[in-house]
Amino acid sequence: MKVFAINPLQFNKTKLRSNFENNQYDYSQNRLSVLNCRQQDTVSFNGKIPSLVTPTMEDLINKTKAVDVLRSNILRLAKYKIPCPCCGHIMLDIDKFNKFEDKVLQTTNPKELLALIDGLKQYLHPVESRIFTMMKRLSNEHPDMTLHEMLRGKLKKSEKKLIFEQSKTLVSLGLMSRKLPEDKGKAVKLLISETYNRLFDQRETSRFSRKIFITKLEDILKDSDNDKLKSEFIGCAAKLPTAYNNPDAFIVKYAKRNYKGANPDQKIALRMLSNSLATTEHIKPRKKGGDNSPENLALECACCNNKRNHDSLLEQILQNPGMILNYKNYMKRLSELHQQKILEKSYITRTNKTYNEGSNGLLNAEEVMKELSIPKQKQRKNEKSGITPTLEERRAARKEKLKNKKLHSGKNS
Ligand SMILES: [Zn+2]
Repeated sequence: MKVFAINPLQFNKTKLRSNFENNQYDYSQNRLSVLNCRQQDTVSFNGKIPSLVTPTMEDLINKTKAVDVLRSNILRLAKYKIPCPCCGHIMLDIDKFNKFEDKVLQTTNPKELLALIDGLKQYLHPVESRIFTMMKRLSNEHPDMTLHEMLRGKLKKSEKKLIFEQSKTLVSLGLMSRKLPEDKGKAVKLLISETYNRLFDQRETSRFSRKIFITKLEDILKDSDNDKLKSEFIGCAAKLPTAYNNPDAFIVKYAKRNYKGANPDQKIALRMLSNSLATTEHIKPRKKGGDNSPENLALECACCNNKRNHDSLLEQILQNPGMILNYKNYMKRLSELHQQKILEKSYITRTNKTYNEGSNGLLNAEEVMKELSIPKQKQRKNEKSGITPTLEERRAARKEKLKNKKLHSGKNS
């Protein structure tokens, strides 16, 4: 049994999410809790990740703390630049984010805030990256303009563009409501017309929440026995743009946000990178019976973790078809860390099994697992030649050798 000297770690749960709570409704109780830890760098692991699957003496003594330590150790992997298994973007590790946050909270100067974001530019997701480019351009033209003013300046134009996008989905939902029984069809049409009233309302206090809209829609359809139609409806409503995937939705959301006395620029700067933060994800959601064992805990960026909520892996893949390829890259990176003796093999094979089973085989990293199953000595040999011969290639090589042998013996006689 391995025993590691672990310094007391300070855990700070769901800190980021409470900073960016939903305007109209607090969904935090519906979300998986994401653990962020601020840890001292004096932990004596020589830069390596301790065993994630073998319990330590401390783990056995204190089971609650053991889960926190396990999650903290998984989070630590993120410092080795791991792509998110869902969206494929490189995840930002919590230590880097904490340092960034400390610096952000020390300044309100927009130019300095932009310089801080620039330092972590490689981690920005596509929407945030576009917003950042726009802010840098505006900052050159108007050096004194705050980040919030930049978003406010774009608000009217973005709001119009966003309403056009939202309308497409609302029209589709309206047409689909014709397939529903009369009472439900009426309720959906009423929800759509209320939503239009809200979208066209120019008052500052009028805000549309995609999440509330989808919850209301789910409520209307909840006792419908037509599951196929229900999932068609929700699938269609999920196409409503969000600040995660649409720059106009980002601008409208954070230009109109009530920052409740906090400095808007600092909050916006933090929001630019909070999406990219590495979090621990239950591969099989807790609500669906998943536990806190190492084989059920993986890394995922905060954005994908938030979006997933309690969805099964199959539902997540349906929303993110790119996940099939991104997952392979995630496993490949973990396997590289194993080769560098940073991460143990069994953590990789066990989580792969959970992903595989939960996705009916859609998420698989067969090639990576094959590579992992080759004994180390053989791997080293193959590394020397630079290629890994397959079974067929080895057979062919043996045949060739035998043939040459026969030829030579024939010549000699
Ligand atoms: Zn992601």
